Amino acid sequence: MQSSNHRLREMEQHHPLLSAGADVESGTLAAGVIVGNTHMGQAAGNRTLWFIHDSCGMVCATMTWLLVLYAEFVVNFVMLLPSKSFWYSLLNGAAFNSFAVLALASHVRTMLTDPGAVPKGNATKEYMEGLQLKPGEVIYKCPKCCSIKPERAHHCSICKRCIRKMDHHCPWVNNCVGEKNQRFFVLFTMYIALISGHALGLSGVHFFTCIKVQWNECSDFSPGVSVLLLIFLCLEAILFLTFTAVMFGTQIHSICNDETEIERLKNEKPTWERRMRWDGMKAVFGGPPSLLWCNPFTGLRLRRLMLLPHGRRGGSEFSV
Ligand SMILES: [Zn+2]
Ligand SMILES: [Zn+2]
Repeated sequence: MQSSNHRLREMEQHHPLLSAGADVESGTLAAGVIVGNTHMGQAAGNRTLWFIHDSCGMVCATMTWLLVLYAEFVVNFVMLLPSKSFWYSLLNGAAFNSFAVLALASHVRTMLTDPGAVPKGNATKEYMEGLQLKPGEVIYKCPKCCSIKPERAHHCSICKRCIRKMDHHCPWVNNCVGEKNQRFFVLFTMYIALISGHALGLSGVHFFTCIKVQWNECSDFSPGVSVLLLIFLCLEAILFLTFTAVMFGTQIHSICNDETEIERLKNEKPTWERRMRWDGMKAVFGGPPSLLWCNPFTGLRLRRLMLLPHGRRGGSEFSV
């Protein structure tokens, strides 16, 4: 438990154990008695489009898109379209492009979905009184965003918010990975791993096919340009495949153990009731196991988004 530096003095008389939690950066995460508050973040999540104004994250997220589009270009225009086998091109093209679209959709959903932010500055006297805490019940206040910190929430210094079940902040998706967008992040890593493996396989086949014949017959580009494009694609694919496959495995492991990356690194003893294996997966992906788990478009309400008023910007969110 933290010192009383950030104690909410006005509430101290009524709740002597009330104290503040430290953020992720301080390395002294506080674990306390839960304050059931599962509705706090929902209004903001439903009414606004979440976007983090972080220049590093925006550059990384744009790079991710450019690299996927580069892979699309090489696979389609260097390998598949010049290929003499119609069915080979059609089937591989359909598979690769579909997975690439799903990867990019998952990326956008991860980036633009509220990861489970706790409303800023809700640690007011009125709000605390409304909680009707039992004697001895402990709650935590985040000193940085002045919010009541639910159990398993951590403060992210980039998002400048406390995030429920924060796993980590990922600059490649320019967002935190938390309770509400973890499923899209898992899909993003899965689809990127799939298209990277697919691109590597296609490159291997292309190299072996072209070695047997003249390179000129094999591609519309000159042999030198084709080889350079393919080598860069292979390097990119190896790097992405390794990174995303490891990340995908780690995420599935975390979900099946109902433990976030932060909790694992901090070796926190669970004070929550763990939802193991399929229960953990169901909690993150929603509903019983089905192909819908692989759908990054789930829960989209385009009509509702378009009907919302334009203009107001505030903090790391803006209305649409
Ligand atoms: Zn905070
Ligand atoms: Zn963050």
